[in-house]
Amino acid sequence: MTSDAFNLAAGLELRRQQHLYRQPKIIASPQGARVQCDGQELLSFCSNDYLGMANNPQVIEAFKRGLDAYGVGSGASHLVCGHSRVHQELEESLAEITGRERALLFSTGYMANMGTITALIGKTDSVYEDKLNHASLLEGGLASRASFKRYHHNDVARLEVLLQKEKKLKQATNPKNPKAKDPHRQLIVTDTVFSMDGDIAPLCDLSSMADKYNAWLMVDDAHGFGCLGEGGSGTLNELALSQQDVPVYMATLGKAIGTSGAFVAGSSALIETLIQFARTYIYTTAMPPALAAATLESLKIVQRDEWRREKLDQLIQRFRLGAAQLSLPIMDSNTAIQPLVVGDADKALAISEHLWRKGFWVTAIRPPTVAKGSARLRITLNSLHEEQDVDALLDAVAAGFSLVA
Ligand SMILES: *Cc1c(COP(=O)(O)O)cnc(C)c1O
Repeated sequence: MTSDAFNLAAGLELRRQQHLYRQPKIIASPQGARVQCDGQELLSFCSNDYLGMANNPQVIEAFKRGLDAYGVGSGASHLVCGHSRVHQELEESLAEITGRERALLFSTGYMANMGTITALIGKTDSVYEDKLNHASLLEGGLASRASFKRYHHNDVARLEVLLQKEKKLKQATNPKNPKAKDPHRQLIVTDTVFSMDGDIAPLCDLSSMADKYNAWLMVDDAHGFGCLGEGGSGTLNELALSQQDVPVYMATLGKAIGTSGAFVAGSSALIETLIQFARTYIYTTAMPPALAAATLESLKIVQRDEWRREKLDQLIQRFRLGAAQLSLPIMDSNTAIQPLVVGDADKALAISEHLWRKGFWVTAIRPPTVAKGSARLRITLNSLHEEQDVDALLDAVAAGFSLVA
């Protein structure tokens, strides 16, 4: 065997030719409206730090106090000896903010989704997912080995067809007693705010659908928590959807909250089930306790500082109005995620590179992250931007679009 039995070089070359090759850029400053990269200062429109918390001085101070109190590492998983008092306080605080009985911390959102879905369903069950769900939700659905069904983006009618089919199938396989209580579990899974589109799932309809077919609804509020709802308590709060309506609520701490990690909130029975069966909770080191301390501080600020959300909303409205005036292809989004679909990956890349040269950092999102032919600029706004930053971006984007037209 040669050392190139896997032929990695050819695969990489193909990726380059398709304009799909990706590389991380090396950043030399904290997150913020402006960042340092390649010896240059850029206006950043691509982070998920929507409320400017990733470099907040009070959060940094809380982090330092956490380090003094607990050191750096947590030393073990939560169930061994890594669950500190500050982890416990954070879980209690998250449960209270989201209006759920309990909450459970995970080290990342990816792990929260994988662990939760695989703990709740298995081979004899079914999972229904929006086609545009985050990769970690899709991955969790596949890893669960449940019957895996995807419905078109936000298409509740299509979801019902799938649920109906499943119901008929069950009755056919159990003709003697179609009304028998079936242990078969059905989980409907969706992003609340879609990460590459910025639109919001029809959560009330999905919740009714779940109820009608005796299924459970799980939502991933990575882009809603902190930004939406009273005091940033999340998308479900805005829609007054209770623990009953949406039994499984998941959100991340690395976006609007500005730190890192994730949590699931719901009934006590749900949380106990995850503690027993979620492998990504059980078999991994707990997040550093100081990070939990920093997160607690950030949550306090995020709840209190209504101005951060108000400012963000103003910037969103300004962006949308300006983009519409320039005939830029805005999408149906009222959130901080304001994508402009370009189409071809090479064109999206060309505009992104043009913006870079002009001092704006806007990532081109290409397949397979988004569907083929829908490569886009994923522009994200945050409360540290100023209106003139948005105006300058719009001018540069318009010039970029005319370059590839
Ligand atoms: C970012 C994100 C995740 C993953 O969270 P991490 O903490 O970054 O692993 C999960 N779901 C959605 C919708 C996300 O945007």
